[in-house]
Amino acid sequence: MTDFPHAGVIGNPISHSLSPKLHGHWLKQYGLPGSYTAIQVVEDALEATLRALPEQGFVGINVTIPHKVNVLRFADQVTDRATLIGAANTITFKQDGTILADNTDGYGFISNLRQGAPHWDAKLGPAAVFGAGGAARAIIVALANAGVPEILLSNRTRPKAEALKAEFGTRIHVVDWVQAGTMLETATTVVNTTSLGMAGAQPFRVDMDNLRPDAVVTDIVYTPLQTEFLKTAAAKGCVTVDGLGMLLHQGVPGFERWFGQRPVVDDATRAAVLA
Ligand code: NAP
Repeated sequence: MTDFPHAGVIGNPISHSLSPKLHGHWLKQYGLPGSYTAIQVVEDALEATLRALPEQGFVGINVTIPHKVNVLRFADQVTDRATLIGAANTITFKQDGTILADNTDGYGFISNLRQGAPHWDAKLGPAAVFGAGGAARAIIVALANAGVPEILLSNRTRPKAEALKAEFGTRIHVVDWVQAGTMLETATTVVNTTSLGMAGAQPFRVDMDNLRPDAVVTDIVYTPLQTEFLKTAAAKGCVTVDGLGMLLHQGVPGFERWFGQRPVVDDATRAAVLA
């Protein structure tokens, strides 16, 4: 046990995580005493790890795949947004011994969009969302909270999109994957939440001919930073926002809670994480 606060990220696998670089950069930038490490945790060890970390001086952790849903079972308090999303990515070990679970993915998504496209107006028109996986849940909740009037949602496996509609309400309209390109006729916010286009995954092949040049387009895939999806949108004249900023911004609330300083996401943050 040391006299400075420890934080970290748990997941399995975890070696690829950029969070240690992100939090390490902020600790250095603000001259704060503290540490942030990546910890590989297998599924069976989740509860024991959550009980042990506070005793070792940990004040909080980020949580990634495969623990984001299961971690809620061990939390004493769950924020409204984590409850709504059904998953947590930010855990705080409070001084009274209780565990607080929060989900900052939607916050990170919206903050990134506002930073990358300051003119973005959620209320201007429908949002088209490609994909209905884990990340899409947080993004749909965040878009609805931001005031998007309608969410057009398309997923290869349609029942998963229908399940999100059943859960999150009537403002969602599900579109068949084979017709996903038609969502772009009216959408003024366009989001890829699928893993398509990620290095090593299949390319994003949806027809983007109908994309409006006034749409703000963002991809949550950030390897590569400039996906083909974003390149196609930029070629149409759209303002595009890459996915790295979502990762950076989702880290802000946890860092502030654990180390007492609200960090800024700027070019130096991006450079530190990409280095
Ligand atoms: P997930 O739960 O596994 O969902 C994957 C999504 O991609 C599903 O909608 C899936 O459709 C779709 N998909 C996969 N292969 C497809 C294919 N061949 N054709 C059509 N659709 C396909 O994953 P996730 O956690 O939501 O993450 C999705 C992506 O976002 C990943 O690349 C991840 O790295 C990235 N991400 C980025 C951030 C960030 O901070 N920028 C945060 C979270 C995630 P089906 O339902 O039909 O399988």
